[in-house]
Amino acid sequence: MIRVAVAGAAGRMGSAVCEAVEAADDLELAGRADPTLDVPVAAVLDGADVLVDFTTPEAAGGNVRECIAADVHAVIGTTGFDVEAVRGEAEAAARDGRRARVFVAPNFAIGAVLMMQMARQAAPHLTECEIVELHHDGKLDAPSGTAKRTADLIREAGGNVHEPIHSVRLPGLVAHQEVIFGGEGQTLSIRHDTTDRSSFMPGVLLAVRRVGDLPDPFTVGLENLL
Ligand code: NAP
Repeated sequence: MIRVAVAGAAGRMGSAVCEAVEAADDLELAGRADPTLDVPVAAVLDGADVLVDFTTPEAAGGNVRECIAADVHAVIGTTGFDVEAVRGEAEAAARDGRRARVFVAPNFAIGAVLMMQMARQAAPHLTECEIVELHHDGKLDAPSGTAKRTADLIREAGGNVHEPIHSVRLPGLVAHQEVIFGGEGQTLSIRHDTTDRSSFMPGVLLAVRRVGDLPDPFTVGLENLL
């Protein structure tokens, strides 16, 4: 049994993660942390092997640091915080002999991971592109973590992502992204639509099961687990 605590447990994603963990035979829900529930992260780490964090850009960095200090693995879905600022701390803790692993994914949906990989594949051949990301109007950060990660991957592959990335925020949307490449006399559009938050759960549970075995103290991207 892997004991899983959830930070942001009263939120849209956190409550879905709690349900998914409770439904899995090999996982035990060890705690729900959320200001709404009046439970801080520190109160749930003691009985947990892994903390899953779907909170806010302001809270996520501190929650990861608490995990590292408590030697609890962290699976982070929160976007809009400085991921690289935490990398050094995770690596320093590992050098000090701590076992905690930190796994971060800007998108846990397999279709979104494939969209990013296909965009990276297209980039050397059709270099000019624009990214349009569309999300529900409760999303705090813009552009989305997925869009920023996609742009990084395209640039690493030699593509030119035009600025700005376009962010649409409207009721009725969940999470969507289109990458449009333009070349001579042609365009190529690669689009992913999340129509329900259940799309993220297989990826989150995969990360929960695998985070403790990761070779590196800090890993970004679901593609590393597939
Ligand atoms: P949400 O509904 O606003 O939920 C966030 C929850 O976290 C709220 O209940 C919030 O409480 C709580 N919270 C705030 N500070 C906290 C802390 N220090 N400790 C514990 N809980 C805390 O947001 P959401 O839609 O679930 O999204 C959460 C994050 O996940 C966002 O960054 C979003 O972009 C990201 N996301 C990632 C993926 C992915 O696949 N990686 C998918 C979807 C969403 P209060 O309301 O009281 O502040």
